[in-house]
Parts: sequence; structure tokens; C-alpha cells
Amino acid sequence: EAKEKGKNTYVVYNEGLLDEAMQEYKLEADLRNAIDHKEFVLHYQPQIDNQTGELAGLEALIRWEHPKLGLLPPGAFIRLAEQNGLITQIGEWVIEEACRQQREWHDQGRKNVTVSVNLSTQQFLNRNLTNFIEQTLQSHGGSPDWLGVEITEYMAMEYEQSVQVLEELKALGVGLSIDDFGTGYSSLNHLKNFQIDFIKIDKSFIQEVTGDHNDAIIVEAIITLAHNLEMKIIAEGVETADQLGFLAHHHCDISQGYLFSRPLPPKEITKEWLK
Ligand code: C2E
Ligand code: MG
Ligand code: MG
Ligand code: MG
Repeated sequence: EAKEKGKNTYVVYNEGLLDEAMQEYKLEADLRNAIDHKEFVLHYQPQIDNQTGELAGLEALIRWEHPKLGLLPPGAFIRLAEQNGLITQIGEWVIEEACRQQREWHDQGRKNVTVSVNLSTQQFLNRNLTNFIEQTLQSHGGSPDWLGVEITEYMAMEYEQSVQVLEELKALGVGLSIDDFGTGYSSLNHLKNFQIDFIKIDKSFIQEVTGDHNDAIIVEAIITLAHNLEMKIIAEGVETADQLGFLAHHHCDISQGYLFSRPLPPKEITKEWLK
């Protein structure tokens, strides 16, 4: 029942715990063992080509199958992992798991699709990142088009190293996406200095795109400008046919959202989308 309403309803992890400090403490102690106990899982959300209606890619979104608290969304533990440094290990697990899953799908002769993973700031700034991705792909006999990475505008703009990191990743051949675009302060004009493949328009703009004139203007402008810079546009959080209609009419390339599918566990994504 909680699942029906989406991510805002994953509040069960609050119940029955004495106070917030206790909860944080326990969660932190548990988090330290979660990788070893194989408690993380990647769910996958389809990205749909607006012209063909075909599957264009998958975004991998981490969940924690906590033995007592149930399925926890990233909002419940990623910030904690960033604070205590566990995020680097978790982030490496995500890349490893995405490659392992791709290997499995590949061996089963499934449709080839890129799986995009979300990077944390610490991961993005870790000097070993490109190496790690390259070696992980290699150890699974994969190719760079198996993987894409999503970073936020903030990560791209705020750090001097980001130009170099993005160049390294680009040279390796993995896809580059800017996530949550429009929520930061950067302009596409700055982003043209990086070889970004995809701009993901934040779902807050998509939500009101058919009702709020300003949001419509902003979305149109982002699409046009991105295309002029030879980037593709992915709309996040597409929930209604009207939103999709608007986006397709304005030549947005790809849509992702509950209209097509929620993020699904591996078994279901395989059965429903990679037949
Ligand atoms: P994000 O990368 O922007 O991911 C999109 C979020 O929007 C996901 O939430 C997804 O479930 C949700 N979503 C998708 N379609 C719709 C829709 O139509 N309507 C609405 N309202 N929401 C939709 P989720 O899975 O809870 O992830 C939240 C954030 O956690 C992600 O935002 C990403 O920033 C972060 N995250 C997820 N997985 C990882 C990971 O492996 N590593 C790191 N560092 N961060 C991650
Ligand atoms: Mg993302
Ligand atoms: Mg996003
Ligand atoms: Mg987001």
C-alpha cells in the first residue's frame, strides 16, 4: 500500500524507534554492514524514446532492503552515507552491480540498453572514478555503452576538477547526463564546455508544464537550447498523457516517469521491458 503512493510514503522506517538520534545511530551501524549483508538492490526505471515509443535506456536507483525496516528509498540513507564516507563504497557497489546485471542480460540475449547510475559528489571527485568504471566494465567483459553516469548541475559547475573528470569519462565512452536540470544556477551556455550527452529536465518543471505558462516557456527554451548544443533532452517525472503530449510536440527526445513505469526490481524490469 505504501508503494502505491510513491516515494513520499516510505516513512515506515520512523516507526517504533525511540528518537531520531537512536534511529540515526542504528541506521549508521546497519549501513556499515549493508553491503556485506547484500541488502542493497538496484531498481530500474525505463526511459522511453518519444518518437518511437521504444525503450531508450534504464536509470538505476538504489534501494536498501533493511531486514527490520523494509524497503528504504535513497532519501532515507544517501545523505547519511555521504556524511560518514560510506557513499564511496556504496557507489562502487552500484557500478559493480549495474555491470553484473548487464552481463546477465547480455548473456540472456536481452535488448541492449544503457544503464545510467547516479553519482554522489564524493564519488565524482574521487580520482580513481574513471579507472574504477573502466576496470569494472572490463572485468564483466562489458563495453562503455553499457553505462551512463548522472551528475547534478551543481557537481558539474562547482568543482574545478569537473572539466577533467567529464573529459576522462567521455574519453572512456560512457554517457554523461546532467540530472535535475533547472534547479541549480547554471546555464546551458556554461555546460556547452563539457561534452554532455543528455540534459534531464527536473520533474518540478514537468509537473506544471501543461498548467503553468512559465514552466512551459522554460521547458521549451531548455529543449531548444540543448538541441542547438547537440545535447538530447530527457524529461523526468512524466506522469500524464498531457505532459507527454506537450513534450513530444516540443521535440523532447526521451521521457521517464510513472506514466510509463515506476522504478522496478530486476525481475520485473526484465519480464516487462526486456522480453
Ligand atoms: P534522481 O536521480 O533525480 O531520480 C529520479 C527520482 O524520481 C527517483 O526517486 C524516482 O523514483 C522518482 N520518479 C521517477 N518518476 C517519477 C514520477 O513520475 N513522479 C515522481 N514524483 N517521481 C518520479 P528515488 O528512487 O527515490 O531517488 C531519489 C534520488 O536519490 C535520485 O534522484 C538520486 O539523486 C538519488 N539516488 C538514487 N540512486 C542513487 C545511487 O545509486 N547513488 C546516489 N549517489 N544517489 C542515488
Ligand atoms: Mg538520476
Ligand atoms: Mg533527477
Ligand atoms: Mg531528483
